[in-house]
This record gives sequence, C-alpha cells and structure tokens, in this order.
Amino acid sequence: MVIKQQKKLKQGMLDNVMRQFNYSADLINLNPNIRKILSITNNELVVHFPVKMDNGDVEVFTGYRVQHNNSLGPYKGGLRYHPTVDIDAAKALAMWMTWKTSLAGLPFGGAKGGIQLDPSKYSQAELERITRRFTYALGDNIGPELDIPAPDVNTNPQTMAWILDTYMSTKSPSERSKNMHVVTGKPVGAGGSEGRDRATGYGVFLNIKFWAENKKIDLKDKRYIVQGFGNVGYWTSHFLDQEGAILVGVQDASGSIANTKGMCVEDLFKHTMEHKGAIAGFSGATPIAQSTFFGLDCDICVPAALGNQITADNANDIKAFLIAEGANGPTDVEAEKILLEKGIEIIPDILCNSGGVIGSYFEWLQNRNGEIWQLDEVMEKMHKKLKESFNKVMKTATERELDMRTAAFTIAIERLEQAYIQRGIFP
Ligand code: GLU
Repeated sequence: MVIKQQKKLKQGMLDNVMRQFNYSADLINLNPNIRKILSITNNELVVHFPVKMDNGDVEVFTGYRVQHNNSLGPYKGGLRYHPTVDIDAAKALAMWMTWKTSLAGLPFGGAKGGIQLDPSKYSQAELERITRRFTYALGDNIGPELDIPAPDVNTNPQTMAWILDTYMSTKSPSERSKNMHVVTGKPVGAGGSEGRDRATGYGVFLNIKFWAENKKIDLKDKRYIVQGFGNVGYWTSHFLDQEGAILVGVQDASGSIANTKGMCVEDLFKHTMEHKGAIAGFSGATPIAQSTFFGLDCDICVPAALGNQITADNANDIKAFLIAEGANGPTDVEAEKILLEKGIEIIPDILCNSGGVIGSYFEWLQNRNGEIWQLDEVMEKMHKKLKESFNKVMKTATERELDMRTAAFTIAIERLEQAYIQRGIFP
C-alpha cells in the first residue's frame, strides 16, 4: 500500500511538469524544434556506491543527478535525501529548476538529484560518509561552472559543507580555492552567504505580501496553514508572523496539529529543534487527523513539503483563498483546475519558492568574485529580484488573461526559446 502510494507520487510529478509545460508551450506556439529539446533532459546520471555503516556492514546506495537544460548557464538545483527520490522524480524536479531559473532571470539552467534513503535511519557520521561517497561518485559531473548543487528536502548547509570539502579534496592544492562555488547553501563560515538560510522562506513570504498588496489585502490577522516545518515552512512562518498573520495549522511527516487561536512560530521552531525536526507533541496546539489538514479554516495555505500533496482528492476541501507553493510541484494539474474554478489563486512554485535559488546565485557570485556581502545587502538584492519576477508574472497574467502558473511558465519558456533562436543548434 505504502509502496503503491509512493509510486503514484513519483509518476505524478513528471506527468505534472510535462502537462504544465505543454499547456503553456501550446499557448505561445512554441517553436516545435525547441519544444523537442525542452521536453527531454540533457543528462541523467545514476550512481550506485558502497558506504560502510557504523556497525561495520556495507550498504549500497543509489544516487541521482539529472541535468535538464543549460542553455542559459550552468545546471543548478538541489539534492534531496528521501525515499521517493528516483529517476522520474529527479527529471521532474530538474525541469522545474530550468523554468525557475529562467523566470528569475538568472544565468543558470536546471538540475536536481539526490539519494533514495530515509535520513532518519542513519547516524550523522553515516550521513557524512554517504554524502562524501556520493560526491566522489558524481566526480566531475558537477563543478562550479558546470552543475552547482544546493540543499533541498532533508539536506542542509552541513551536507553542502561535506560536498564542498570532498570535491575540493579531489583537486590539486592550487586549484582548490577556485572551487568554492561548486555548491551553494553552505554554512556562512564555510563560504556560504548571509541570508541564504532564510532565502526560500523570505521569497515565499514576499510573494504572499506582493500578492496581498496587489489585491489590497492586509496580512494582519490573516490565518494560514503550513505543510512542512523545515527550512521553508519555518522561515515563511517567521516572516508572516512579523506581519501579524496567525499560524493555525501545521502538518509534517510526524503529524498534524491545529490551534484556531494561533500558535507561536518560534516556540514551535524550538520544539522541532528539540525533537529531530518533528512537530508532533507540540504543547501549543492540538493533534488533528491527517486527512483534515487541508480542510482547516484559513485564508492562506502554504504547502512547503513534497510534491503532489494537493490533488483532486482534497482540492475541494480547501478553504484558503490563496495557495503559496513553497514546495516544488505540491499541486497537481487536476487539483489546480478545481481550485481555479473555485476562484482560489495559486502563486506557483517556480515563482513562489525562487528565493532559494536567487539566494544561491548571490552566494555563487560572491564566491566567484571573492566578495563577502552583509545580510542587509543580500536581503535588499533579494527583495529587488523577487519583486521584478512577481511584477513580470502579474503583468503577463493580466495582459494575457492567464492564471499565475501559466503566466510564469510562458515567461520562462519564451526566454529559453529566444536563447535557442539567437544561438541556433550546433552544428
Ligand atoms: N532546492 C531549492 C529549489 O528547489 C534551491 C535550489 C538551488 O539553490 O540551487 O529551488
């Protein structure tokens, strides 16, 4: 039963991203040759590598890196550690990265990868060895000007520091420091950028704020629910809290909780820090049934966990007037039809969670140029870039009478189309 469910999730994401792409491609009459190119991934790497466990046994892991497109710049995208990671999931997520970086106007392409595992089953020492051995297996298929990984589901700055150290160690001493930008999302002390930790959540929050300003809605006292309370869910809540919005429901793999009066974001964060990231058992809220989560009475819904969470099965339950996609691919195509019909608006993932890769771009630039920027400088630049993207999407949506996802895809695909038309196809 569980396996079937996972299979459904995986197949769904690739199907979803292709349907989203084809819908917008049809609408703009995308050049058929360019459609062929963008419909496939450039490179798909699958590696199997052995790692010694703490008890002395050897376990063989399977890792993936899919490079979808690099016509606008080096491949860029995260690495996730999760049981649902497989080749189709990596393909779908890599494609979303291409649209995301294109829409954000960054000089990057799209990639994604990871390892099929449940990290909660391994010690920190084992995770370090798994990460280092995976990096070694990827070898020169990643690189600071070729393909730049970053954190994603269940990976973090520490994971990136291990990747950097392993990658650098394989280079000759004189080459090592040239490779600082092989990964982004590093700890600040190990070449990371100020503000990268909160970048995705800040971007989700700003998109909600820009949207609300556009609709002349005040965020104060607006009730919101968040699925996933990791890096994205927490930081989004942190910034929404500062606007006076009220967190009334949270769901993660450990359980679902609600409090109609609102819960304290920082207390919940503290609880998760003390309980291996899990929200279950938080004293400031009451446990609810998993299936009732998306139906909670609220104004804004922030799915910030995995793909295909809002489907035709639960779309009709949703009471929020806005869905802000912190995760990649949380809403499937069938659910989106239902939601739009009901007048519920969706800030699409490739816009809504683009703060992360924008923050990564700033880190990459600093490493490349030997610069160190202050937090306020990074936040200001991020604000400017996110505002530009949001305005572009809103303008296109209004002028062409499109929903926000289709508008975002249209902009992203047109930028890629133009690059191909100007450069032609080799030879
Ligand atoms: N994993 C994040 C995403 O899905 C960040 C990617 C990056 O910074 O390269 O957008």
